[in-house]
Amino acid sequence: LIQLYAPLSFLGVLYREVRQSLTDIERMFTLLREHREVQDAADARPLAAGPCTVHFEDVRFAYEPRRPILHGVDFEIPAGRSLAVVGHSGAGKSTLARLLFRFYDVTGGAIRINDTDSRQLTQASLRAAIGIVPQDTVLFNDSILYNIQYGRPTADREEVIAAARAAHLHDFIESLPDGYDTTVGERGLKLSGGEKQRVAIARALLKNPPILIFDEATSALDSKTEQAIQAELEQAARGRTTLIIAHRLSTVMNADQILVLDKGKVVERGNHRDLLEQNGLYTQMWALQRQAEEK
Ligand code: ADP
Ligand code: MG
Repeated sequence: LIQLYAPLSFLGVLYREVRQSLTDIERMFTLLREHREVQDAADARPLAAGPCTVHFEDVRFAYEPRRPILHGVDFEIPAGRSLAVVGHSGAGKSTLARLLFRFYDVTGGAIRINDTDSRQLTQASLRAAIGIVPQDTVLFNDSILYNIQYGRPTADREEVIAAARAAHLHDFIESLPDGYDTTVGERGLKLSGGEKQRVAIARALLKNPPILIFDEATSALDSKTEQAIQAELEQAARGRTTLIIAHRLSTVMNADQILVLDKGKVVERGNHRDLLEQNGLYTQMWALQRQAEEK
């Protein structure tokens, strides 16, 4: 039996290693495909730890040279404050998030973090400082534990569970046959949009970064779960520099500043009350949502 067991357990180890390296290769290709545009400057410096001020300075951007998407966007989020961006679909909201994370470089103007152009920072240090809950979350073919822990690989199981609880995911995970060890992703258990969104929220909460980006972070959730998680997100955002992209205006009412983005331009700005007084696009959107909610 021992003779048989030794090679088998060796195969087990080999299998795990091969599987791990396949996921790594996949991950590498995803990274290459998405981020090939961006490279560290030869003299890039790491971002110093601590609170971050985010400054968009006349930011212009085009995915394709002939089709500009952002036409000079200006805003500043002081360290620890929140800024929300609202606007119709296609206005360029997610593009702002992608540029801040530096999936792409701006084609004009600059994004400064604590007065340093983000192109002068190492990508690794910039991305370590940002927790992002994207519109669509891609999961790794690995355990749900791994998928949450990815936010901060040094976190222990207890910390992962605490983040999952805050993202209202813990009970769901416990109900799975293999609990936190359940494999998810393309070749594992397929999670719903709302479940994936909660994995991304848990990841970001676990990461505990000075900058948070929520890109329609609760759009796939039913309104009851959304309200419950909203409180957790507000709690998480306290004291952090937060960029909130929202589809439901009720989630931006408390932001320190709100921008209305239309076709790649800021057309209105202020807090919720200021914007209602301006009686423009924001007021229109607000009225439309009120109507829709009453139906
Ligand atoms: P929003 O989040 O406000 O709905 P986006 O920032 O996602 O809008 O997109 C703004 C515009 O940029 C849209 O017209 C969209 O089609 C275009 N766009 C988004 N991603 C890409 C891409 N990878 N390549 C080319 N065009 C893109
Ligand atoms: Mg978007």
